[in-house]
Amino acid sequence: MSVAPHVYDKDRRYAVLVVDMLYDFVYGKIKTDRALPIIPKSGELADSARSANIPVFYPNDSHTRRDFEIQRWGEHAMRGTKGAKVISALRPRKRDVEIPKTTYSSFHDTRLEKDLKKAYDGKGANTLILAGLHADCCVRHTCADAFFKGYETIVAEDAVNSFTELQYLTGLQYVKFWYLTDVLPTKKVTKLF
Ligand SMILES: [Zn+2]
Repeated sequence: MSVAPHVYDKDRRYAVLVVDMLYDFVYGKIKTDRALPIIPKSGELADSARSANIPVFYPNDSHTRRDFEIQRWGEHAMRGTKGAKVISALRPRKRDVEIPKTTYSSFHDTRLEKDLKKAYDGKGANTLILAGLHADCCVRHTCADAFFKGYETIVAEDAVNSFTELQYLTGLQYVKFWYLTDVLPTKKVTKLF
């Protein structure tokens, strides 16, 4: 059952965000096998969005050694390296937009908000659909900033994951409770388009 406020039901303008599906997150320095099953689901979501003319963004870690987060995780997704590239199965298409970021939230010090406002002929997107890694970290922190800025959020539950099942479930529960995020399977999300 949906708990979202649904303030934009009459004029829904979606944007899809595929977060941190990078070589280092999936196969490299901070890899997890739990990323593998979400690859086809994230792809399905992005493809359906493209067919419906819904903008697709790729907020991606693009770190330098100056980023504070490196103290926590060590070097990963370093700018200009293969580890910082989107995995080939989810390669961004021509009209997709990559958003380099330097910490967990896709909004923090990035051009995401500006780009979201430009979408739909300047009317702006108002509802963000999230896929990628990790449910309890970058997805969660992006939902937080989205909420602070007045966006509604949907998380595609089979297109996100975390290092452990507990973290996954906790992450989803957190965004549902605090940000009224709708948590839905990809096949239900794509029916909205
Ligand atoms: Zn990072």
